[in-house]
Amino acid sequence: MTRIIFLGPPGAGKGTQAKTLAQHWGVPHISTGDILREAIKEQTPLGIKAKSYVDTGQLVPSQLVQDMVSERLQKADTSSGWILDGFPRTVEQAIFLDNLLQEMNQKGAMVINLDVPDDVVVGRLLSRGRKDDTEEVIRRRLEIYRSETTPLIDYYGDRKQLVVINGNQSPSEVNSNLKDLIISC
Ligand code: ADP
Repeated sequence: MTRIIFLGPPGAGKGTQAKTLAQHWGVPHISTGDILREAIKEQTPLGIKAKSYVDTGQLVPSQLVQDMVSERLQKADTSSGWILDGFPRTVEQAIFLDNLLQEMNQKGAMVINLDVPDDVVVGRLLSRGRKDDTEEVIRRRLEIYRSETTPLIDYYGDRKQLVVINGNQSPSEVNSNLKDLIISC
């Protein structure tokens, strides 16, 4: 059973790694950012509500994201596991996820913190050039990451679910570290 939660600042490489590992292990890659961007593109009710938050680098209200994750995790393709990327991002969302997984009789997700210094992630994001990758919006996303998401490092550390991987290496090096780690668990 592969159940993995990726933590790490914007630009840490969560999406790249999550996607490759999901293909390798044959489980869905569930990226809340990707789902929100798709909803915005399609102008669904969720997308219309989320747009101003995503564009300005603020967190979309938790209720919207939680409903979205709950629905996604209950689809049939998650029966052999999943990789979550971008969720949870706050302690409130982590508590929600714990309760949801308990209700679904799923225990023991592994949480991987992809650790990358701020100056490195800013450089990576500026060269990526997504719509929310302007300098001002990047700065806001990093601030929110520090204040809202880093408490999850202790949250999952206390529960002995956390593993730290050095994300400041080439994508293939990070990928082989991750595969070694997951095989050994
Ligand atoms: P990054 O990790 O580079 O910031 P993501 O694709 O994970 O990019 O997220 C992009 C945006 O989507 C965030 O800035 C935020 O507005 C929104 N978002 C994604 N996941 C969540 C979440 N769990 N809670 C609230 N907002 C979210």
